Amino acid sequence: MTSTPVTVIGLGPMGRAMVAALLRAGHPVTVWNRTPARADELVAAGATRAATPADAVAASELVVLSLTDYPAMYDILGAVPADVLAGKVLVNLSSDTPDASRDAASWAADRGARFLTGGVMVPPPAVGTPDAYVFYSGPADVLDAHAPALRVIGEPKYLGEDLGLAQLFYQAHLDVFLTALSALLHATALVTAAGVRAEDFLPDALVTLTDIPAMLGDEAKELARRLEAGEHPGTLSNARMMGATADHIVRTATASGVDTGLPDAVKSQYDRAIAAGRGDQDWTALYEVIRASS
Ligand code: NDP
Repeated sequence: MTSTPVTVIGLGPMGRAMVAALLRAGHPVTVWNRTPARADELVAAGATRAATPADAVAASELVVLSLTDYPAMYDILGAVPADVLAGKVLVNLSSDTPDASRDAASWAADRGARFLTGGVMVPPPAVGTPDAYVFYSGPADVLDAHAPALRVIGEPKYLGEDLGLAQLFYQAHLDVFLTALSALLHATALVTAAGVRAEDFLPDALVTLTDIPAMLGDEAKELARRLEAGEHPGTLSNARMMGATADHIVRTATASGVDTGLPDAVKSQYDRAIAAGRGDQDWTALYEVIRASS
């Protein structure tokens, strides 16, 4: 069976990794990028360079977008005639808000195109490997029809018809990821400000990070149940004790001349939980403070 043609628009590190994986899997791939030179290596490897976004869309029924955000999609596809977009399947794997994904689906529908939104959950080097997976939401039949090609990028994890869902899951995972990365950098700044070498700290800091799944992993279902039920019994690590530590981190950072924005935010959550009378509850009581802010 001949592999289906795929168009990829957006050739940053992620888009380039997608094209490379699709070429390896034998798909004819057409590419377009605002900065044309970024396509050169891929063209040498077998991709076809489209001269314009309209040519890129015309080349395949399946059009994958890998851009910095959703406004970039309008910058690129805004000038493509509706009759070229009609009948196409746009799969936008760019980051943005859930509402931006829903709006983009309406925009596509107005032009007779169908739309899937997704979030790639691995870095570029892992695209096309067995570790890769991608959150999708939108019409299930559209994903089913194009799953063979999309699976080359990463295993699809379908979340439902609501176009905002994949983006919501992507942003929620990135919330964990980005906060953890900032915490690692902040903690490293804290120790290096005292003359400690980063190499004497970072390996153990990574162990602290990987201890979190060990600490919560077996209990994840029970933790989820307790968060939903609003149960925070306070048996092991209560909010008052954790809040005292949060304060110590802020004061250590202040004394070191290191930025306090991140630990201030964490301390503020403990302060508000304690002020709300939750000091004797588990640290998970912060969940109520965080939810109440929304
Ligand atoms: P980059 O931001 O490096 O590149 C994205 C592409 O968007 C480039 O091709 C760029 O074109 C294009 N672009 C941006 N703005 C415009 C615009 N206004 N008009 C036309 N083209 C535009 O992103 P990545 O490739 O790293 O990532 C792509 C998506 O994948 C992002 O949404 C990201 O969140 C997601 N992702 C990335 C991961 C990563 O580790 N890189 C991991 C998981 C997901 P040009 O080359 O001309 O600048």
